[in-house]
Amino acid sequence: MTAALAPSETEAGCTETEVLRERGQREVFCGLTGIVWLHRKIQDAFFLIVGSRTCAHLMQSAAGVMIFAEPRFATAIIEERDLAGMADANEELDRVAAQVLARRPDIKTLFLVGSCPSEVIKLDLSRAAARLNQQHENVRVLNYSGSGIETTFTEGEDTCLEALVPELPAAPETETSLLVVGALADVVEDQFVRLFDQLGIGPVRFLPARRSEELPAIGAGTRYLLAQPFLGRTGAALDGRGAKRISAPFPLGAKGSEAWLKAAADVWGVDEALFETVIAAPRARAQRAMERYKDTLSGKRIFFFPDSQLEIPLARVLHEELGMQLTEVGTPYLHRGHLDCELPRLPSTVRLSEGQHVDRQLDRCRDIRPDLTVCGLGLANPLEAEGLSTKWAIELVFTPLQGFEQAGDLAELFARPLMRRDILRVG
Ligand code: SF4
Repeated sequence: MTAALAPSETEAGCTETEVLRERGQREVFCGLTGIVWLHRKIQDAFFLIVGSRTCAHLMQSAAGVMIFAEPRFATAIIEERDLAGMADANEELDRVAAQVLARRPDIKTLFLVGSCPSEVIKLDLSRAAARLNQQHENVRVLNYSGSGIETTFTEGEDTCLEALVPELPAAPETETSLLVVGALADVVEDQFVRLFDQLGIGPVRFLPARRSEELPAIGAGTRYLLAQPFLGRTGAALDGRGAKRISAPFPLGAKGSEAWLKAAADVWGVDEALFETVIAAPRARAQRAMERYKDTLSGKRIFFFPDSQLEIPLARVLHEELGMQLTEVGTPYLHRGHLDCELPRLPSTVRLSEGQHVDRQLDRCRDIRPDLTVCGLGLANPLEAEGLSTKWAIELVFTPLQGFEQAGDLAELFARPLMRRDILRVG
């Protein structure tokens, strides 16, 4: 293995690189999937999907583990009706919501989650939420869309957090605070809290908060750091409330985590020596943990199908810190503003694609025959049958990857399919 310079030092990056934009058949989950991690994060919220039997099946299989617990999501199945039947549909929705809230007095926020069947589209869920807010005093009822027509996979989190922004209380005008935006595993959140505390940065708040009464206050003195790259609408809503984004790479890998913390440290005027003292040990742990997988990953060619919008920051880590060669990096949406610190760190040779025309992309992937292909569940088996090693993109969202302490897990997730292939070959 050679010790290569970081690409940002050797190459121009792909800030200006032309992006291949494709529109066609897509192979991605809809935004309902976000409920799987959001209901764990917001501990007193209930997600009532207003949908069809298909939506109920998707949620049951995506979150099958919940069968062992008292679930905090359900589907109100709206059967096919004509417009004249809409009054019944609203009554039915009110009845189901009342039933849920009567059974679960611990619920403080009820999300009505829209889906794509035509009979649901005809329902006005914002009016339904307003009506239910009047009927149920101690519960905040909000609505957002998880429809497959409007959202892909991680965008359900974006629409959910966007719905929360108008609910955030106003912060005192004189207060300067840091808001970390994007659902993180509690363990990761706690690690960041400790680091910010040691750096003297605060007060630090999180969106989403773990509990409804902890909604973060926001105002002109709020500076926010995005923890996830798929929050375009939430970012715009926060900007509308006067908060200002801190431009930073995403906290993935040792370098990404350091740069993310440093961006906040610079805004707070943290002394360089203190910064170095605080991060030296966790950064060294992250580097050591990643080093274990470098031999497996270095020089290997990787191809990303669009799925979670995490593709570009992950590609940056894999290239910059683990020496992988990027072929095509596809993403459902490319938000140049939020990726302003990521794109320059990618090599200018990478092909960036946005959106999807799955047949054309499959052809490109077959031509390249990468060592590792990151894709959704539906594409993984056929590609494996063609002899390509694959990584399920969904695991990258369901596994905590952010921060120094998770950098080794991130590298391992990508190394595992390659190690398994080597074992099978030897066997
Ligand atoms: S919201 Fe649409 S895409 Fe998602 S499960 Fe329901 S019907 Fe399918």
